[in-house]
Formats: sequence, C-alpha cells, structure tokens
Amino acid sequence: MEANETVSRNFIERAIDDDIKEGKTKTVVTRFPPEPNGYLHIGHAKSILLNYGIACEYGGRFNLRFDDTNPVKEDADFVKSIKEDIEWLGAQWEGDVRFASDYFETMYECAVKLIKDGKAFVDDLSAEEIREYRGTLESPGKESPFRTRSIEENLKLFEDMKDGKFEDGQKCLRAKIDMASPNMNMRDPVIYRISKQTHHNTGDKWVIYPMYDFAHPLEDAIEGITHSLCTLEFEDHRPLYDWVVENTGWDNPPRQIEFAKLYLKNVITGKRYIKKLVDDGIVDGWDDPRLVTIAALRRRGFTPGSIKKFVELSGISKANSASDYALLEYCIREDMKMDCERLYAVLDPIKLVIDNYPEGQTETFTVTNNVENETLGNREVTFSRELYIERADFMEEPPKKYFRLFPGNEVRLMNAYFVKCVDYEKDSEGNVTVVHCTYDPETRSDLNFTGRKVKGTIHWVNAADSAEVTARLYENLVVDDEEDIKNEDGSYKLNPNSLTVMDKCRVEKRLLQAKPYEAFQFVRNGFFAADPKDSKPGEPIFNRVVSLKSSYKPGS
Ligand code: ATP
Ligand code: MG
Repeated sequence: MEANETVSRNFIERAIDDDIKEGKTKTVVTRFPPEPNGYLHIGHAKSILLNYGIACEYGGRFNLRFDDTNPVKEDADFVKSIKEDIEWLGAQWEGDVRFASDYFETMYECAVKLIKDGKAFVDDLSAEEIREYRGTLESPGKESPFRTRSIEENLKLFEDMKDGKFEDGQKCLRAKIDMASPNMNMRDPVIYRISKQTHHNTGDKWVIYPMYDFAHPLEDAIEGITHSLCTLEFEDHRPLYDWVVENTGWDNPPRQIEFAKLYLKNVITGKRYIKKLVDDGIVDGWDDPRLVTIAALRRRGFTPGSIKKFVELSGISKANSASDYALLEYCIREDMKMDCERLYAVLDPIKLVIDNYPEGQTETFTVTNNVENETLGNREVTFSRELYIERADFMEEPPKKYFRLFPGNEVRLMNAYFVKCVDYEKDSEGNVTVVHCTYDPETRSDLNFTGRKVKGTIHWVNAADSAEVTARLYENLVVDDEEDIKNEDGSYKLNPNSLTVMDKCRVEKRLLQAKPYEAFQFVRNGFFAADPKDSKPGEPIFNRVVSLKSSYKPGS
C-alpha cells in the first residue's frame, strides 16, 4: 500500500486519483488565476495552498496567471503585492508569471474557429435586449433574429468588430448553444464584446475582449492545466467551460472542479468590500493590520505556517461554511508558543514603590526565556525600589475574587518577591499614580519560600532599567456581538475599539532591538510582533498578533 493511501483524501484528490487511474492524465498541472485588482486575502490563501499543494503532491506543476482580460485599469502595485504574498506563503510557481492577455491572439483564433464551425454568431441585439431574450429559470429564452447569419457574414462582421468599425455595445459575438437550456449560462452566452479601452499590457491593439467564461477555459487549456480548481459559484458555469474546450479542439482538455470558499465569521474577506474600506479611509491601506489581507496578516505578525495550518483545519469541502476567527488565533498561538521569548512588558504602567527596599540598591534575577523551550536560554532582569506594573493590577476597591494588588493585599512579583500594598497616591483627577508596597526579603524567588501563599502573580519592569515603546491592540474591525454586522444602507457596523494605541508602554530593554516582524510573548498580555512599516531602528512599534487566552479548541 502507498503511504498516502492511509490518510483520508479529499474529494479533489479522489477525483484526480480517478483521472490518473483511468489514464485521462499522467501529470497534474494546477494554477492560481488572480485578477490584479486588489490585494490577496486569507480566502485566496486557501486557493493558493490548495492548488500548490495538489501540484506538489502529484509531482506536477503550479502556474501563476494574472487574469487580466478586463481592460479596465489594472494596477502594477497589485501584481507586485500578489507575487510577494504568494512567495511569502511558500508557493512556487513554474517559470515566469503568466498573463491571460498574452493569449488574446489564440482566443481570437478560437472564436473564429467557432464561427467557421457554425457555433458562434455576431449579434446586433443590445445588452438589454439580450437580457430580455434570455428568458427566466421557468421559461426558455428566445433566439436572436441574427442567429441565422451566414458563416461568411459572421466572419466578416467579427473581423470588422476587431478592426474597430463598431462602437461599444453595438455588436457582440455569441456562442450558438441552446436558448432552451435549463442552464442559463448555456443560452447563447456572449463570448466577445467591444470595449474601446486601453489595456495595460496590449495597449490599443484590441478593441474586442473575451468574456470570462470563454477566456478562462482557454487560458487553462493553453497552459496545459489538467485540473482547474475554482470556487463553488462557478459550478453552474462548468457545462459552458466544458463546451468551450470541447468545441475549440484541445487534445487534453482541462477539468474544472469546484470547492467551497473560505469565509471567516464576522470578518470582511471579499476584495470588493476590503477595497471600499481602503478607499473610504476606514483603514490605513490594504495592509492595515486589522484586515485579513495576506499583507495585513504578515504585517501584524502572522506566520505562513499559521495560515497553512488554519487553511488545513478549515478543510476542503463542497459546502459553504464560515470558520471562526478564533481558529486562526489558535493556529498562530500554536505556532508562536514554543518559538518566542517571553518578556515583561507593561502596557499601561503605573509606578510601584517598595518603601522598605534600600534606595540605590539593584539586584538581578535570572529568568527563563521560555519555560517550555529551554533552547531559548535565560536572561537577567534587574530589580530595584521603583518598578512599573499594569494599572489594571491595582484596585482601590476590589470586587470579589480580585487577587491582585489592593490595600492590605500581598501578591507575588513574578520571579522576584512577595509585595504587600500599604498605600497609594492619586493625582488631582483621582487617577492612581503610585502604589506603595513593602517587600519580604525571605520570599525571594530562588529561596523556595513556603511560609505562606499568595493568590496573585503580576509582572513588572524595573523603572530605571526599562524602555518606553508603543504597542497597538486590535479588536475585530466590525462589531461581532450583533446578529447583523451591516447597517440598513449596507455599510458595516464598525467597532469603535478596533484599534487601541498604547504609547507609553514600559518594557524590558531587550525589546528595543526587535527586528521587523520579530515576535515575542509579552507575559500575560499576548504575542506581539514589531511592525515592519512604522518601526524605526531602536524604536520598535509592536502589534498585538493575538492575546493569550483562548476559549477555542479545534473540533469544538
Ligand atoms: P473576492 O471573492 O474576494 O472578490 P475574487 O474571487 O474576485 O475575490 P480573484 O482574483 O478573481 O478574486 O480570485 C482568484 C482565485 O481565488 C479564484 O480562483 C477564486 O475562486 C479564489 N478565491 C477567491 N476568494 C476565495 C475564498 N474566499 N476562498 C477560496 N478561494 C477564493
Ligand atoms: Mg473576481
């Protein structure tokens, strides 16, 4: 038995196995065909990893092809970002990047062949009339009065279309299939239209452009794609896909197989919607760390491994469903927990003064960088009379079950001493500014003190030996506690707390050396990575990738 027969295979693998067994194909060639009109998002990652993964599994090839058959503005910036994102995910395409527009000549020849075979005709009906003639799901369509044009006339008119003798919308080329087909896509679909626009690649050479349903199967066939994996909304287009490749004469026509899109609950994934957030200035560009574009996830500190794991756990299926964002969080936590140093960082600091600790004295503690991963070694942290602690770790009037600092209570300063709160100071507005404690020298962490127990342990940094940095905390961009995340006008209900900037964090000085993308665990506060765009040497800005707490267990 082959090793891979023992693992369960998804429906796409089973279909390919059958094709190989039946001798329909020897090799496997897949592709990823993005339209260069935006940045890639996490849904695209699924498609990329699936297509690339299948090609690798069968020892085949994987192509990257920009689907630029639409002459409206394509952006070189999008092409660049898409390539970067795919490389970052670790998918390697075969040879050069391909552009669908490079195949316009072949596509034109295929259209001419259809005309010659009596399978396509030039129509004079307007777009609106074509729509009216199309019929409905319940009733058949009506044939165009121009459907019976002679082959010679069609050839001549199509050439005239190509030569710019007609205006946009005046004529189009339609496949001659079946106006009574129960599948609307088969009712003489338009395959070429006139559009007098400049194309970013072919300039003004063409004034006629192929429609997606005609172009896409041809692009696949031209490249020798064996399995064209696409998302479910194209299922009804498959008969047309097959019709196109069958009738334009290919020896080994590609086979289309559909799978369900990846959605995230309460998270904006569609390119169109992300573009609107960018254009409306709601987010700070396509790589704003609150988005789930690949560029944003990378910038925020996600790793390719975490995204792969997430796509794997989300599964490949035929049924649409949405994954929890918490699953993505689980994947990045799993990825980081062993690899990152765990340091002390106080996000919202207040001073803690140890009244009975000698002024001017400093001592040093040796702290393990990651208790679960010894190879990350130890570091020295200094301790003195004045420290910073989290504002939230002190309360004047604590509720029940609050075990951190409050007047009269004792806690453990992580890896240091027990301290007991004896007093506190406030400013004129009533904000606590300093917490006063006393410490017990016998409780030093390496003395294995057993005399009494405390319920709370808090982290801290030495005031004189810490640095100030900025950290950014994120929440979901849209509200996620309401049934409907959209307003009546279709706009999203935005979460006012999606970004919190903490610009006075006090952290261990080691963090000043953080390199772009370098990630750390800030003890008790989560995983943070240095922002590659906004950080300056010696002045890192940290993005919280994910908090530490999780209610999520895969499979639950
Ligand atoms: P969007 O749905 O965000 O508007 P799109 O489908 O218009 O994206 P394309 O550039 O046309 O974006 O897509 C390239 C490929 O990625 C297509 O094969 C498409 O089916 C696939 N794809 C797009 N969105 C998803 C998704 N959410 N999950 C899986 N695959 C996707
Ligand atoms: Mg699209």
